[in-house]
Amino acid sequence: MFPEFTLRYARLPEHFFLRFDPVPVKAPKLVAFNRPLAEQLGFDLAAFDAHQAAEWFAGNAVPAGAEPVAQAYAGHQFGHFNPRLGDGRAVLLGEVTDCEGRLRDIQLKGAGMTPFSRGADGRAPLGPVLREYLVSEAMHVLGVPTTRALAAVTTGERVFRRVPEPGAVLTRVAASHLRVGTFQYFAARDDIEAVRTLADMAIERHYPHLLGPELADVAEGERYLALVEAVAARQATLVAKWMGLGFIHGVMNTDNCSIAGETIDYGPCAFMEAYDPATVFSSIDEGGRYAYRNQPWIAQWNLARFAETLIPLIDGDQERAIEKATEVIKRYEPLYEAEWLAVMRGKLGLTKEEEGDRALVDAFLEALQAGRADFTLAFRYLAEAVEGDAPALLELFEAREGIEAWLPRWRERLAREDNGPAEIAARMRAVNPLYIPRNHKVEEALAAAAEGDLAPFEALREVLADPFTEQPGREAYARPAPPTEAVFRTFC
Ligand code: AMP
Ligand code: MG
Ligand code: MG
Repeated sequence: MFPEFTLRYARLPEHFFLRFDPVPVKAPKLVAFNRPLAEQLGFDLAAFDAHQAAEWFAGNAVPAGAEPVAQAYAGHQFGHFNPRLGDGRAVLLGEVTDCEGRLRDIQLKGAGMTPFSRGADGRAPLGPVLREYLVSEAMHVLGVPTTRALAAVTTGERVFRRVPEPGAVLTRVAASHLRVGTFQYFAARDDIEAVRTLADMAIERHYPHLLGPELADVAEGERYLALVEAVAARQATLVAKWMGLGFIHGVMNTDNCSIAGETIDYGPCAFMEAYDPATVFSSIDEGGRYAYRNQPWIAQWNLARFAETLIPLIDGDQERAIEKATEVIKRYEPLYEAEWLAVMRGKLGLTKEEEGDRALVDAFLEALQAGRADFTLAFRYLAEAVEGDAPALLELFEAREGIEAWLPRWRERLAREDNGPAEIAARMRAVNPLYIPRNHKVEEALAAAAEGDLAPFEALREVLADPFTEQPGREAYARPAPPTEAVFRTFC
């Protein structure tokens, strides 16, 4: 039933990883399985056996052809460099080829203590596993590049965090687990050849166009510079999408910054409700480094750390290499601004590009902030305002002066679009979700699961599978948290 492995990472030289078999657990039980994803990955579902699947996804049995490794990486955590992090609780089983011919990493997260565990237990509690499952799958359906969740199993063992919790393992699927931190690990050891190996692997797996004829004759250094630019472009696209959804990652450390441009490592992440760009949820982000509004610039900071690792490969003359890399990192700014504006134009129903659009977007966001309006629903209900009154929209605002002044301005701009109101409204509803993983609904599902009741998790998973379509009877999933249930702090 398991698809065939094509080992790539485990075929790199031995100092890229530590061979490590997942540590078996007491009583593995499959609690979630992503059949559509499994099909895409080439699992033979006709032969599906829940017992066998639980054994594999708990790490009690290693599927044929896999060679489990813990990957080495370093990282800046909240701005401080740690030269040795690595997979402290995850093992990469290997890569498989999906139905579109793309290589995909299959990783077990929570698979036991590895040589990178640094005194921690190597395990994952059920709550965070199910949160990553729910949120990463929701992000995928919302059109955001992301790692995916293939399966979750409970282990029959307890893990101890703030309180004892059931243990679990998540099977995560990624374009790769190459991170900025992977490059930093080797750069910190002056292992330039290892950095080159990683860069070549990243180009081959994620940016094969850089091997195309237009770059065939350029100096080798230009190719690595082009890699930095390509990664920067993907990050710009990614973070613009986060911003358009009110998503706050929470831990944008360089080890959580994917070279493939996927959202990776869902810890204390959360979606903003009342719009405030200073919003922070993570209990470990005391200084607000990873606040909503900082995300684009943190991504740029991470990209600069990435570029630094490639300096010796970009140009033999260090000064010149730094100059070139700096140019590329600076270009991220207009790149990001353009991506963000494109996302926001789409959310406001605009297809044409006009000079004043940026100011129009800013004014809308100011009105949201002044009115403490729910970010998700404000965009969603705005579609109703294309044609006329939108009482549901206005009700979201505690103070309405801003929004009332803004609406006529926006309608005037819409009049210069080629489509009629119905088409504009439909196109807005196709990009502005009605359902997102509301923090209190996620918390509710995780709390029930910890008590053995998976029904709220299942219900939420179902709602989030179709976020752009109104689902009768599920109004509660669309609403922001009532004051008593509002989530202000998240834990990982
Ligand atoms: P994260 O904040 O999840 O990106 O993790 C940062 C580092 O801590 C990585 O090297 C993880 O492997 C490691 N880590 C996190 N949780 C655990 C745990 N329970 N046991 C061992 N290592 C962990
Ligand atoms: Mg991480
Ligand atoms: Mg984590």
